[in-house]
Amino acid sequence: MRKTIIAGNWKMNKLAADADQFAEDVVGKLPNDDSVEAIVCAPFPFLSSLVKTADNSKLHISAQTMHFEENGAFTGEVSPAMLADLGVTHVVIGHSERREHFGETDETVNKKVHAAFAHNLTPIICVGETLEQRESNETNAHIDAQVRKALDGLQKDQIETAIIAYEPIWAIGTGKTASSDEANDVCAHIRHVVENMTDETVASQMVIQYGGSVKPANIDDLLGQSDIDGALVGGASLDPDSFLQMVEAGT
Ligand code: PGA
Repeated sequence: MRKTIIAGNWKMNKLAADADQFAEDVVGKLPNDDSVEAIVCAPFPFLSSLVKTADNSKLHISAQTMHFEENGAFTGEVSPAMLADLGVTHVVIGHSERREHFGETDETVNKKVHAAFAHNLTPIICVGETLEQRESNETNAHIDAQVRKALDGLQKDQIETAIIAYEPIWAIGTGKTASSDEANDVCAHIRHVVENMTDETVASQMVIQYGGSVKPANIDDLLGQSDIDGALVGGASLDPDSFLQMVEAGT
C-alpha cells in the first residue's frame, strides 16, 4: 500500500511570524494515521524554525530547491548538507517555476536528485508539460524524457523512495486543474516509465503526486484515482485550515 503524501508548496510567500503560526496551528491537528504524510515546502529563512516547531510531530519540512554542489564559491546558494544539517527531510527539485525563471534543466535536476540522496533528503521531483505540448499530443513523450533524465543513474531502492510530482504547467496557479482522468493517465504513464527503468515492485511502491490548482474542493476526486498518491499544492496550502482539510482527505 502506498502512502498518500500531501505537500504544501508555499513558494515565495509568508513572513517568519506567519510561517511559525502556520506550523503551530497545524502540528497538533494532523491526523494520527500512518497512511498519510504531510509536508510543508517553505522558503529557506523559515526552515530552521519550522523544523523546531515540527519536531516530534507528524509534519515534515521541505526546502523548495537547493544546489547540487557540496560547498564552495556559489554565492547565494544552499547546499544539500546545509538542509540535512537543519533537519529538513525533503527537497522540491525541478519545479517548473525554477526551470522557467532560474535555468534549471533536466541535467541539473538529475544532479540535484543524486545530491539529495547523498544527504538522505527525499526529492520531490517535478515534471510537467506546457499547454502547447499537450495540444500537440506530446505530453507522454515529454514526461517520459523528463522522468528518465531525472532518475538516471539512481539505484532501484532510491527510485522507490523518490516522490514524483506531475504538474502540468498550464494548471499551475491558473485555477485550471487537469481533470482527474487526465491527471491519472499521466501519473499512470509515469509509473509505467519507472517500471521500464526498474521493475514492477519499485514502480508500484513509488509515490506519484498531482499538482496544479489542487484545493479542498477537488482533492477527493484526484486522490480517488488509481495512480495519484497525493498532491503538491501551491496557493491552497497557504491557509492552515485548507492544508489540514487536504491532509485529512488523504486518510
Ligand atoms: P498551485 O501550485 O496549487 O497554486 O497551482 C502548484 C505548484 O506549483 O506546486
